[in-house]
Amino acid sequence: MLVSYVLPVYNEQDGIQRFHDELVATLAERPEIRYELVYVNDGSADGSLATLRDLAKNDPQVLVIDFARNFGHQIAITAGLDEASGDAVIIMDTDLQDPPRVGLQLIDAWLHDGAEIVHARRRTRQDTLFKRATAHAYYRLLRSWTDVDIPLDTGDFRLLDRRVVDELRRFRERGRFVRGIVASMGFRQTEVLFDRDERFAGETKYPLRKMARLAIDGVTGFSTVPLRLITRLGFLVLAMSVVGIAYAVAMRIFRPDITVSGWTMLMVVMLFLGGTQMLSLGVLGSYIGRTYTEAQARPLYIVRQVIRHDND
Ligand code: UDP
Ligand code: MG
Repeated sequence: MLVSYVLPVYNEQDGIQRFHDELVATLAERPEIRYELVYVNDGSADGSLATLRDLAKNDPQVLVIDFARNFGHQIAITAGLDEASGDAVIIMDTDLQDPPRVGLQLIDAWLHDGAEIVHARRRTRQDTLFKRATAHAYYRLLRSWTDVDIPLDTGDFRLLDRRVVDELRRFRERGRFVRGIVASMGFRQTEVLFDRDERFAGETKYPLRKMARLAIDGVTGFSTVPLRLITRLGFLVLAMSVVGIAYAVAMRIFRPDITVSGWTMLMVVMLFLGGTQMLSLGVLGSYIGRTYTEAQARPLYIVRQVIRHDND
């Protein structure tokens, strides 16, 4: 039995060694678990790669996939899954927010309960109020907008059985929301609750921009509800226009002396229609944009080198 760890790294120079040591120490408590650590250096601009290179040099269980540039967390995970050879694969962050010890619990749920997917669900988390609030709202919205049973309060920290990994590898979409794809696949799924720690070093590598990107990929990848909302919005606007027109006509007939002041009405209607149209175009645009990038079908990532124990 071999367990692979898929470990995305982006500018984690101050924490990566500590993370590695803790993970290895935790795994040493369970010598019956054979493991492989697949680090994916997602175009780090700091000293992360040098540290990873050393880890690979000193330990045949470490493998480093070095991206030619930053492709993003979800793509880094994907590359790790492509390379991992374990009977089970654990995806976890490398900033010690996902505690290595919980990884053992995932393995136990897989070994003893026969689960093929084990989600690590956050009971508590230490992130900023803003991040917690937006994530909380987002997961609930996603659940109500999609047919997929996306587990609440769960990031990418999870264990996947080999069968699941093999199926997952056939999904090659670019704007990927890995946790959504996994949830949509079926299989025997279960969850383990854990308390999410604070980041050990450095800052979040998920600025608002990347968070928004991921959130949009989650929605557009699994739901067409926004498209249907446009239609509803259209009906609503139409209904309101009918009332407005009736009002304007009535004023014209019964109060012809003040019809010039209809300027207010005109502005309100114009602004309102303009606004809803822009919004609708934006929603349409995000789906069209998705169609466009998926149609290009470019390679998901480009690897500069794969670093193993015996070839540096
Ligand atoms: N990460 C990555 N590429 C990126 C951004 C992040 O590989 O472009 C990695 C990062 O090194 C970490 C994990 O993805 O291991 C989660 O990122 P982070 O901890 O910054 O996100 P947060 O926990 O704040 O949501
Ligand atoms: Mg983190």
